[in-house]
Amino acid sequence: MPELPEVETIARGLDTRLVGDSIESVWIGSRKQPLKSPAGVIAATLEGRRIVRVHRAGKHIVFDLAGESRPWRTRVSQTKRKSKVRRQTRQAASLQTPDLQTAQWIVHLGMTGRLVICEPAAEIAKHTHLIAKLASGRELRFIDPRMFGKLSVHLHPGGFDPGGVEPLEVSEQRFIALFRGRKTPIKSALLNQKLLRGVGNIYADESLFRAGIRPRRRPAAITREQLGKLHQAVREVLREAIALGGSSISDYVDADGEEGFFQLQHRVYGREGEPCLVCGTAIRRVVLAGRSSHYCANCQK
Ligand SMILES: [Zn+2]
Repeated sequence: MPELPEVETIARGLDTRLVGDSIESVWIGSRKQPLKSPAGVIAATLEGRRIVRVHRAGKHIVFDLAGESRPWRTRVSQTKRKSKVRRQTRQAASLQTPDLQTAQWIVHLGMTGRLVICEPAAEIAKHTHLIAKLASGRELRFIDPRMFGKLSVHLHPGGFDPGGVEPLEVSEQRFIALFRGRKTPIKSALLNQKLLRGVGNIYADESLFRAGIRPRRRPAAITREQLGKLHQAVREVLREAIALGGSSISDYVDADGEEGFFQLQHRVYGREGEPCLVCGTAIRRVVLAGRSSHYCANCQK
């Protein structure tokens, strides 16, 4: 599953390649699972809009769109469910104000979601759920075999807010306040997206290792100083991974459709039974709330 550094890398890649381009038309497949907004609303929001920025919010990719969407009557939708989409679009148009100046397209890649920029002639991969035809002649496609990805649009002023605090922007004071006194294991608290957004399993394990804290420790029993260390470790680990272009441990590709990012060397994650890189002790794995946690019993207390 792409984690924050991967999503950041993908968003940056898309931003570089898509800003200034416009979405001319949108085809949406018949599978409902990836659609968190109605197909018609997604199409109505995207079509005719210019992409002004692509960025990350938590683990979501956010496309900031400018310009008024086209009136539904003139839209040439490529979807097979044309009439249904038209009906939904009409509903959407009647529900929303006509001048949608601040619209955002939100993509969550889930486990296996990919956004690929390609030529229209490129073969349409199985599990393609959305194709956006761009004014530049290229296409932006969303492909997701396992369909845990999510597509939605956000139309409210103020912008999309996935909840939680951005881990790369949180101050030490705020970080400590978020976690202090919590009764769940620190690892679970780190994964709680309502606290920090975007920290996943790998980077939680790696951060705890660097901070010398065992995953099962209760935040209530962790000193302010140690939490301060953890704050630093989380940011350090995420920044390093972003600098390396995100780890590539899963089935996803970057915005160029290329696989094989440089992988951050994991010090504990996925290294059960292997010697700790610091002290040589065998790395242990425990399951916490259904997720694997890896740690060194010697380096982490
Ligand atoms: Zn160790």
